[in-house]
Amino acid sequence: MAPEKPFHVAVCGGGIGGLCLVIGLLRQKVSCTIYEAAPAFAEIGAGVSFGPNAVRAMEMIHPLIAKGFENCVTMNGWPEKKETWFDFRVGKAGSRDGQEVLIDTHVADVKSGKLGQTSVHRAHYLDELVKLVPHGVAKFGKRLKDITEEGDKLVLLFEDGTREEADAVIGCDGIKSRTRHILLEADHPAASAVFSGKYAYRGLIPMDKAVDALGDELARNSQIYMGYRGHVLTFPIDKGKTMNVVAFRTKLDGEWEDPMWVRPSTTEEMFADFVGWGDKVRKILGLMENPDVWALFDHPPAPVFYKGRICLLGDAAHATTPHQGAGAGQAIEDALVLSVLLGQVNSPANLEDALKAYDAVRRPRSQRVVTTSREASHLYELENASIGFDLEKARRQLEVRCKWIWDEDLSTQVKMAQDAMAKRPAGKL
Ligand SMILES: Cc1cc2nc3c(=O)[nH]c(=O)nc-3n(C[C@H](O)[C@H](O)[C@H](O)COP(=O)(O)OP(=O)(O)OC[C@H]3O[C@@H](n4cnc5c(N)ncnc54)[C@H](O)[C@@H]3O)c2cc1C
Repeated sequence: MAPEKPFHVAVCGGGIGGLCLVIGLLRQKVSCTIYEAAPAFAEIGAGVSFGPNAVRAMEMIHPLIAKGFENCVTMNGWPEKKETWFDFRVGKAGSRDGQEVLIDTHVADVKSGKLGQTSVHRAHYLDELVKLVPHGVAKFGKRLKDITEEGDKLVLLFEDGTREEADAVIGCDGIKSRTRHILLEADHPAASAVFSGKYAYRGLIPMDKAVDALGDELARNSQIYMGYRGHVLTFPIDKGKTMNVVAFRTKLDGEWEDPMWVRPSTTEEMFADFVGWGDKVRKILGLMENPDVWALFDHPPAPVFYKGRICLLGDAAHATTPHQGAGAGQAIEDALVLSVLLGQVNSPANLEDALKAYDAVRRPRSQRVVTTSREASHLYELENASIGFDLEKARRQLEVRCKWIWDEDLSTQVKMAQDAMAKRPAGKL
C-alpha cells in the first residue's frame, strides 16, 4: 500500500530499531526514508535474545516481523527447559561475610513465559527485517552530521556533503548517536554514554564442540554462571547449531580509557581474567572462536526524547547494559508506539504531538530498563550489598525481577500513548 500521509519522516540509522520503525511506518502509510551511515545494512556475528514483550511488539508492528523472527529463532533444546529464560549456577566458588558458595550449585531456574529463551543470530534476524523494507526506502553511506530548519522543513546534512529534507527526523543511530548530541546539545551531561564498570568477551562455539565439553543439558539450554565480580552466559542460536557466549567482568577502577569500545581478544587474555573460575567456565572460554572484548556503556537518563520534530529511538534514546537482554526489545517497543502514533497524524503541524506522547510513555519504562540492568549485574556477580553470597535471597530476586519487562501489556501502553496525544497538544519545550 502506497504511503498516504502528507508528511515525510527521515529515519537515521538502520539497526534493529530503525528497521522495525520503518516497517511499522510503512504499514501505517507514513512515507519515510532510512539514512544509514554504513555502505549496507549489517549486524555483528553474535546472538541477541528477546523477552516475550519484544516478541509481542514485533507481531503488533507487523505480523511479517514476527514471521521473520520465527524463521530464525532458537529456543532451549530440552522440552523441560521450554519456559526457562536462564538456569543460574555458581561458576566460581568463594566465600564472603561468612557465606560460602560452592561450585556448580544450581541457584535458580528463571522462567520468562511459555516461549522461554528466544534468541537469534543478529545478522540472520536483520536479514529478515531487511526483506520487509521495499527497494528505494534506504539510502546508504549517509552519516548524519547536522539538522537545520528551513521554512517548514527539517534539513539533514550528511558527512558526504549531501542534504535531504523531511518533516520529522527520528534518530535511530545507536549508542554514539549524533542525533542525541544535536537534540540535547553535545555538552549536556546526558548527551554521551558512560562506562558502566563492566566489560564482556563475546564469541561463538559450534554446538557439537560445546556438547562434547559441557554435556547436552548445559550446551543446548541457556545458562548463567555466577561468580564474584563476573558472570558468563550461554544460549543456543542458529537453530541449535551454535552456542553464543558472553563472559562479563568488572573493571575494578571503573574507568575505560581505551577510545575503542570493541577490540579483538584472545583465549589467553580471557583465561588470565577468569583465574579461579570453575572447570565449565574455563572450558567455555577455551572454545570461544574469535573472541572480542566489549566495554559496556549506557546512557544517563535524557530529560526528554524529542525536541520540536526531532526524536530519539532505541539505543540513541536509552542505551543500556545487556544484563536483562532487553535493549533491542525496548527499541522494538519504541518502534511500535511511535509508528502507531505517527500513523494517526494527519498534518505536519501535529507531528510534535505524537513525539510528545511517545516521550511521555516510552521514556520512563525504557530508562527503568537501563537502571535495573546495572542492578541485575550486581546480583549475578554477587556484589549486591544486601544479598551478597546468599543464594536463597538471590534466587527469590532472580525469579521475579524481570517480570515487569516481560509481562507488559503493550496494547495498554499504545492506548496510553494515543490518549496522551489526544489530550495534550505539544507546547514549547
Ligand atoms: C554485549 C551486548 C549484548 C547485548 N545483548 C542483547 C540481548 O541479548 N537482547 C537485547 O534485547 N539487547 C541486547 N543488547 C542491546 C542491543 O544490542 C541494542 O539495544 C540494539 O542493537 C539497539 O538497536 P538500535 O537499532 O537502536 O541501534 P544499533 O543497532 O546500534 O543501530 C544503529 C544504526 O545506526 C547507524 N548509524 C550510526 N550513526 C549514524 C549516523 N550518524 N547517521 C546515520 N546512521 C548512523 C549504525 O551504522 C547502525 O546501523 C546487547 C548489547 C551488547 C553491547
